[in-house]
Amino acid sequence: MNGNDADVIIVGAGLAGLVAAAELVDAGKKVIVLDQEPPASLGGQAFWSFGGLFLVDSPEQRRMRIRDSRDLALQDWLGSAGFDRVEDRWPRAWAEAYVNFAAGEKRSWLRARGLRWFPVVGWAERGGYTANAHGNSVPRFHVTWGTGPAVIDPFVRRAREGEEHGLVSLRFRHRVTQLTVTNGVVDGVAGQVLEPSGVERGVASSRAAVGDFTLRAQAVVVTSGGIGANHDLVRRNWPPRMGNPPRHMLSGVPDHVDGLVLGISQAAGASIINPDRMWHYTEGIQNWAPIWSRHGIRILPGPSSLWLDALGRRLPVPLFPGFDTLGTLEHIMKTGHEHTWFILTQKIIEKEFALSGSEQNPDLTGKDVRMVLSRALPGAPAPVEAFKRKGADFIVEKNLPDLVRRMNELTPEPLLDPAQVEREVRARDRELDNPFSKDAQITAIRGARNYLGDKLIRVAKPHRLLDPKAGPLIAVRLHILTRKTLGGLETDLSSRVLRPDGEPLPGLYAAGEAAGFGGGGMHGYRALEGTFLGGCIFSGRAAGRAAAGAV
Ligand SMILES: Cc1cc2nc3c(=O)[nH]c(=O)nc-3n(C[C@H](O)[C@H](O)[C@H](O)COP(=O)(O)OP(=O)(O)OC[C@H]3O[C@@H](n4cnc5c(N)ncnc54)[C@H](O)[C@@H]3O)c2cc1C
Repeated sequence: MNGNDADVIIVGAGLAGLVAAAELVDAGKKVIVLDQEPPASLGGQAFWSFGGLFLVDSPEQRRMRIRDSRDLALQDWLGSAGFDRVEDRWPRAWAEAYVNFAAGEKRSWLRARGLRWFPVVGWAERGGYTANAHGNSVPRFHVTWGTGPAVIDPFVRRAREGEEHGLVSLRFRHRVTQLTVTNGVVDGVAGQVLEPSGVERGVASSRAAVGDFTLRAQAVVVTSGGIGANHDLVRRNWPPRMGNPPRHMLSGVPDHVDGLVLGISQAAGASIINPDRMWHYTEGIQNWAPIWSRHGIRILPGPSSLWLDALGRRLPVPLFPGFDTLGTLEHIMKTGHEHTWFILTQKIIEKEFALSGSEQNPDLTGKDVRMVLSRALPGAPAPVEAFKRKGADFIVEKNLPDLVRRMNELTPEPLLDPAQVEREVRARDRELDNPFSKDAQITAIRGARNYLGDKLIRVAKPHRLLDPKAGPLIAVRLHILTRKTLGGLETDLSSRVLRPDGEPLPGLYAAGEAAGFGGGGMHGYRALEGTFLGGCIFSGRAAGRAAAGAV
């Protein structure tokens, strides 16, 4: 190791860092993995994730009678990404490589490591535009059996095995504040040792330092995640095309997603591109049992809820629940108000509300078949029911006037005109009199039910919102919820970090969310969902392999 502390230093023990570490262990290299959090948070965000993976033309899809192909997936990806910048050279190359991975080796590679998937494939980001535009033409969201914890498990195990064999040193409470550079080569890191912390997984830990450290290696891999919990950074990078940055946001990620290593890498000579591309949700609800600061949960909605803006006006076509996340965000920010409303029925909530996150899906996370099967029975899943009863954003009433009155009581000012809301609800309900309709949302709901998976467990039979048999009525106030960072450190296909002049910055690699999941933004402007965990795996693997080959 030539006087170095290890062959490779990895900054960040989330999924991308663990995958890189596993590759390095396989290659017999000595690795130090640093993380600012205590051991309880090993695995980073991925532990909390729903474990949804973008796979193309999988056996699960074929069993559900979905015909998919690499060409259709690439068409969808490019239609969503909308690459239009000179600096999209590497992001586009990553996008193509990633779609090939998702249509090729991804499933078998993960299956060999023990991953399995729920048989009903989900349809996220349905798009709603034309064939070449945003959205998934077909369902591709494969929920991992065991959700987030099962996704990280094989890589945690490999890192621990590496530890047992003296190849891996996992050092928690080590916060990197600098990448050291000698003669233009990144040759180590410096930072602070933080005081021990006994907080539980995901809970914000103290930042009090008890010492300093410097470590040297032939290569450094940055896998420090995105910026989602750093609302100042989110606001600073907010793209003008999406209006003014929101004043109020919930956090869909733990506090450690602070984005600071991005600036630290830039100071060492790295190029950051597409910082204005981000992926935030518009269906955030306040967690009634928060774990991290401003903790919000994302509703993964089916298509039937009526979506109203803060003034009670229906969102325009095709901004239906689950169709176009960023299109909806852009529209909301232009309304001058940051919250919106779902109005739905008991029948809809039972079938169409999924909550993103491992802890919100104890049946899938706990691999409990009986509990999973009970999803097909009447009644909402227990975590959804808990939100309905205890969530600050939920209102349940038997009739519309009472519902709207209580909706108005929930906001600082009563912004809703009850007559306007009633007009929207009644007009929508009238469109159900025929098996055909001019209302694009009703048509989309009926279209969705042509997919077996949606019909079975995801999309309620079309019905009138005011049908008492479908009730009670439910209103949910929705907040903007930060989540993913789509831009980041510019990397080539070997995950080597580039300098602003386009040449590799020797010694530095990046992967996962810190690298915009590869290239500095392989999603372009918009994402197809389920592509982030896989992006960590694909880019983490590339970084680990390239660093192993270089040292
Ligand atoms: C609730 C939830 C649900 C999700 N569901 C899905 C899903 O279904 N499908 C999907 O594809 N994606 C999903 N995602 C997104 C996905 O989980 C993340 O994008 C991905 O896990 C990011 O992994 P990462 O390794 O790049 O970064 P992270 O998981 O953020 O890990 C980075 C690590 O770096 C450490 N670190 C940061 N700065 C420093 C520093 N200065 N010094 C030392 N250590 C540092 C952090 O403490 C952290 O442990 C979800 C995310 C959440 C939160």
